[in-house]
Amino acid sequence: LRSKLPQVGTTIFTVMTRMAQQHNAINLSQGFPDFDCPAALRERVSFYLNDRRNQYAPMTGVAELREQIALKVAQLYGCQADADQEITVTSGATEALFDAIQAVIGSGDEVIMFDPAYDSYDPAVQLAGGTPVHIPLTVPDYGIDWQALSDAINDRTRMIIINSPHNPSGSVLHRSDLDQLAELIRDRDILVLSDEVYEHMVFDGARHESVLSHPELRERSFAVFSFGKTYHATGWKAAYCVAPAALTAEFRKVHQFVTFTSTSFIQYAIADFMRDCPEHHLELPAFYQQKRDTFCSLIEPSRFTFTPSAGTYFQCVDFSAISDLTDMEFVTWLCQEHGVATIPLSPFYAHAPGSSIIRFCFCKDDSTLEQAAAILNKL
Ligand code: PMP
Ligand code: GLN
Repeated sequence: LRSKLPQVGTTIFTVMTRMAQQHNAINLSQGFPDFDCPAALRERVSFYLNDRRNQYAPMTGVAELREQIALKVAQLYGCQADADQEITVTSGATEALFDAIQAVIGSGDEVIMFDPAYDSYDPAVQLAGGTPVHIPLTVPDYGIDWQALSDAINDRTRMIIINSPHNPSGSVLHRSDLDQLAELIRDRDILVLSDEVYEHMVFDGARHESVLSHPELRERSFAVFSFGKTYHATGWKAAYCVAPAALTAEFRKVHQFVTFTSTSFIQYAIADFMRDCPEHHLELPAFYQQKRDTFCSLIEPSRFTFTPSAGTYFQCVDFSAISDLTDMEFVTWLCQEHGVATIPLSPFYAHAPGSSIIRFCFCKDDSTLEQAAAILNKL
């Protein structure tokens, strides 16, 4: 069999969650909460399930949900998005990212991404026939190296993928970053794919800077969001993409043949919840900042070194004061010998720099974080 993705193995999230299960470890690897989604939202899901909303939703997504999304992006980002022509509901942000890439990337096109990069971007570009171009983020702050980006842009560059708040590092882009990006691609035929699934997890009073609030970038961007993150329900695989009508038309040509549509009763339920409980997402930054602060103060006595995350529900730490192992060896040892599962950073690099950094997921009950910290502080 000739593999289309010879370099690709099983995603690190599956590898580490499986290892956590095998060793009965506390799982701070794959990003998912161990607490429940809001009760009012579960009630709406049961309601629509029992209301027999069991057949295909419209290909573009349930109209009520797209209308709520339009209201949300107008309120949060001052973005006037047409619910019929510019918003598409997808089965997870993973699907939205894949659809956007397949829709506009073809043979000979280069797609720039920043390492460490979320692991689905590169294979999606390869499957589209495009060429991934990896630029390292700056160390230690995980910002964009503008000179390196400028040097990488050429006539074949068709797309730049940005991700803020950034998984795995927890860094965030600022308005000045969006301005610089807009300036670099002005007058060029380059699109932006903006992965904003952690839009509500930005800390210390900072604001999430969406491409939707930047008129110049808005015109050439696919902006991708995930209900899985916002509603503590990663297993529902519900997400959406906002893009100008011409881009959305191409996006939907792919979406209709990848999944066609997403689970119907979940879409109706989320639409109700967005209408009735808009405060939920407004409370998320404080909720997750509290989790970050709890986790960081719990592991303060440990020998890990770190700077608190500016966003996401992840905290990266350096383990070089504890061990000389590679990051993959270290996470295996930590999981198998000490019972805490984490994520190494090297799988997020095309050319791994020999990292001694691992990622903890802190969207967990305080009791889970306390149990983990008791182990981590003894290493
Ligand atoms: N992008 C990033 C940066 C993510 O961290 C994730 C998921 N964890 C996704 C996309 C995919 O989101 P979903 O689960 O909605 O497919
Ligand atoms: N995005 C999640 C994380 O970063 C994992 C998603 C997945 O398992 N595919 O941990």
